[in-house]
Amino acid sequence: MNEISEKRLNFIEQIIEHDLNEGKNGGRIATRFPPEPNGYLHIGHAKSICLNYGLAKKYGGEFVLRFDDTNPSKEETEYVESIIEDVQWITGDDLSNRIRYASDYFDQMYIWAEELIKKGKAYVCNQTPDEMRDNRGTPSVPMKPSEGRNYTPEKNLELFRRMRAGEFNEGQYTLRAKIDPASPNFNLRDPVMYRIIKSEHHRTGNKWQIYPMYDWAHGLEDSIEHITHSICTLEFEHHRALYDWFLDNLDNIWRPYQYEFARLNLTYTVMSKRKLLELVKGGFVNGWNDPRMPTICGFRRRGYTPESIRSFCREIGVAKMNSIIDVVKLENAIREDLNKRALRRMGVLRPIKLIIENYPENQTEQIEAINNPENENDGTRLIPFSKTLYIERDDFMEEPPKKYFRLSIGREVRLRYAYYITCTGFDKDENGNITQVYCTYDPTTRGGTSDDGRKVQGTIHWVEVNNALNAEIRLYDRLFTKENPDDTQDKNDYKNYLNPKALEIITNAKLEPSLKNITPEQRFQFERIGYFCKDNIDSTPNKPVFNRTTSLRDTWTKIDNKN
Ligand code: ATP
Ligand code: MG
Repeated sequence: MNEISEKRLNFIEQIIEHDLNEGKNGGRIATRFPPEPNGYLHIGHAKSICLNYGLAKKYGGEFVLRFDDTNPSKEETEYVESIIEDVQWITGDDLSNRIRYASDYFDQMYIWAEELIKKGKAYVCNQTPDEMRDNRGTPSVPMKPSEGRNYTPEKNLELFRRMRAGEFNEGQYTLRAKIDPASPNFNLRDPVMYRIIKSEHHRTGNKWQIYPMYDWAHGLEDSIEHITHSICTLEFEHHRALYDWFLDNLDNIWRPYQYEFARLNLTYTVMSKRKLLELVKGGFVNGWNDPRMPTICGFRRRGYTPESIRSFCREIGVAKMNSIIDVVKLENAIREDLNKRALRRMGVLRPIKLIIENYPENQTEQIEAINNPENENDGTRLIPFSKTLYIERDDFMEEPPKKYFRLSIGREVRLRYAYYITCTGFDKDENGNITQVYCTYDPTTRGGTSDDGRKVQGTIHWVEVNNALNAEIRLYDRLFTKENPDDTQDKNDYKNYLNPKALEIITNAKLEPSLKNITPEQRFQFERIGYFCKDNIDSTPNKPVFNRTTSLRDTWTKIDNKN
């Protein structure tokens, strides 16, 4: 992964190059991606991964994947494993010896907390969380100081050690930094550093009764790992003063610096772990890896490639202004990538039979088809052809409108790679549904071209009946119908905008037989329909399941323009 270098420098690259020119950090660059293991990663995280990993790569630096596992109540091993898999998939790199855990630093953090207490820069506070909120003050009114502000360092040390020993209840005491009760930046009004939590931690078990807060812990983690550029999203801008204060008040430590960039937001998507968890828990989707989800594992299962996600992240760039990116950009990135790499195949999603009246009974021939017009090396394959084929129901019309170039009585079209055919008739059932279509073929047009130079306007795909593979096809669409589902009065309203058509299941599709041996890693295009991949979870040998990664064209923009 080195694609980041081609574009104009973004503002973080400018900072880094400036630091390198100044000889800062001995010319060393170290970045990290610091997820909290309380959910699966989403496409927003991909932006951060590409940025941090890409910078380390570009400048010959170091990158670590660090679990910010400082809150035992919400974190789980399941999330840790999925995050490792996802980050390795996005970067295409084996990160096994670059994985770190903030929980491994708890002892060191504790020592530093005692250092601040001894310096009179931290104290134990006996206010409940509610009292603390009530005492916080307003921009013009300072916070009401806590008693602990006046305790001696000795008393604070004793209380803090008893907190650690588990002598108190949750909420009874906290450790707070003694900074500035009147600061216009509320983050500096004596923020909490440690709180008492009695849950079991996924790695340290019951060793700890006190857990560090994000703001206290994060800079320390960066310092322990000798990170040079600690890159986070803009909502932490007002926390930077605190990040700096903690590091500046400790002696003999490595000093990292924090920089903020705009988080990724996408149209027709929500991008918060809390909301994604609600969708999973509420059964609105079938798990974190449901291909409708904006999670990395959802995209992977749906057939997105890591290359397409990296190319999307490169394309949207890194800025300091929050904005919402049109999801079409992501969809186009995967189309562009799959257009190059996907094998072409034929599959009929909604089949009706086509009978070629003048084709010999009991004859089967092999038709040569091109695997990928974008790549000659992919070669050709043979597909069976006989008197009875499946074609799409939509490819025949009894009374065609103008500009309908597919089958209708008397019209000649091309069967892809095979022959010209002319439609001669059809059958209907008692409900008026077309059940079968009849045609004749021109044996001189084998390969789908005519020697006499006559042209046809339509080409349709087909699958031979006796060799067809039965499959389930899942067509996916956007998860929400509203461009910005987060933009609502009530923060839970987003669920009202779930797209009921985000998943359509077709149970009786007919595919060409070569798809029998396709693997979930192979990407392919059903000609005229879209890009697909085999579902690696729900497929069985008798009933393979295929996911539509994306349609061939952007159908939404067309609809929007009509409105
Ligand atoms: P969410 O807000 O979705 O719940 P989070 O910020 O709580 O996510 P973390 O696990 O804390 O998730 O995030 C790990 C890293 O990914 C952080 O550095 C965070 O800034 C970054 N990140 C999270 N969401 C986005 C996003 N939408 N765009 C870019 N970076 C993001
Ligand atoms: Mg977070």
